[in-house]
Amino acid sequence: MLAIDVLAFVLLAASFRDLSISGDDWIRFGVLALGSAIQTEAGREIERLRWSAAEGATYANLKSMWIFAAVLVLPPLLAIGITALSFLHSGIRLRRSAPHRTIFSAASVVVGSAAASVSLAAVNPSNHPGYEGGFIGLIAVVVAAVAFWFVNYALVVGAILLSSPETNARKVLGRSSDHLVVFGALGLGVANGALLMEQPWLTVVLLITVLGLHRALLVGQFQFAARTDSQTGLANAVFWHELAGKELDRAQNGGTSLGVLYLDLDHFKLVNDTYGHLAGDQVLKVVANELKDDVRTDDLVGRLGGEEFAILLPNTSAEETSQAAERIRRRISRITATVTTAHGHATVEGLTCSIGAASYPVAGSTLDELLLAADSATYAAKNAGRNQVVTAPAMS
Ligand code: GH3
Ligand code: MG
Ligand code: MG
Repeated sequence: MLAIDVLAFVLLAASFRDLSISGDDWIRFGVLALGSAIQTEAGREIERLRWSAAEGATYANLKSMWIFAAVLVLPPLLAIGITALSFLHSGIRLRRSAPHRTIFSAASVVVGSAAASVSLAAVNPSNHPGYEGGFIGLIAVVVAAVAFWFVNYALVVGAILLSSPETNARKVLGRSSDHLVVFGALGLGVANGALLMEQPWLTVVLLITVLGLHRALLVGQFQFAARTDSQTGLANAVFWHELAGKELDRAQNGGTSLGVLYLDLDHFKLVNDTYGHLAGDQVLKVVANELKDDVRTDDLVGRLGGEEFAILLPNTSAEETSQAAERIRRRISRITATVTTAHGHATVEGLTCSIGAASYPVAGSTLDELLLAADSATYAAKNAGRNQVVTAPAMS
């Protein structure tokens, strides 16, 4: 890591050789520095969420959108300046990694930038910094982006492997979605640089667009995560109820029908007692997958808790709801799940479930009435000997 830090300083020293900085360069430098600072500030909350979701894996941010633009259009000294400012800013404001790590990250970006500069100059000697027109210009930019990414990535992966060889390989290599983030940021950097050369004021539009998308896309992702049960990947109880309410509104307004199924596995405690709680968890995952596979894409399978599931069937008549319930009951009874127990692998078979089915508008006209009807029907199915479907009676 120190070697890379030193190399970055050598590159910095070398960049002092070329001190022909024009007034336009300083304006572009100012725009990039300001844009990068605004983005770091505005994206703080989102980046904190993304960082915590990465769970210790390396994760990518949008910094390169500014840094790569600087590599493309500014003299090396100013491009290094943008990199330094950007990392200094996030190092102080986000405080997510130790200072020596932040310095190393910045240093590896500087080395990556140098690789990009060398590639640009090689493809396009006359016109760097700046943009060559035409197809050659495109090639130059793509080659530079790949060089920037590859060198930076190789240095970071190398440093992690050298400093902690026991780290999980997949974590070190990073998620493919993070590489896409980096390439997206590099692409934005190209657009950013082109705007700076031709229409510097339009950089404001680019900044606002990126901030908007950054927020909208990622917040959406996290809301999705907050709605899912992490163990089974199904909708969690809160989200299921929220959506059931909305679908019921739709059914009421559109005059359509809707089905609700409550499903409770029979004697599930026995599975835990026989194979262990962890094996029980694995069985629950298999059940969840079977349920998801069985229903249509518009239907929503939720996990209400432990071994209790709820299934929402929009646009489904009372008769179709009962048929779906029966189909699901049979499907559960055919499950053979291979689980790991304290004594090796075991096969769990003969699983059964009790299902209560309730249909709008037959069994209830409000969500509470429907859920109560489905719950009572499940209870009735248990009392009647389990492994069966009971359909809630029509409202009196
Ligand atoms: P029945 O429904 O037929 O009356 O009997 P049951 O044994 O399934 O009883 P109940 O529906 O009350 O289920 C509660 C049991 O389910 C308790 C616990 O052993 C098991 N259980 C609940 N949640 C989980 C979970 O997340 N993982 C595992 N492995 N078991 C769970
Ligand atoms: Mg239960
Ligand atoms: Mg049960």
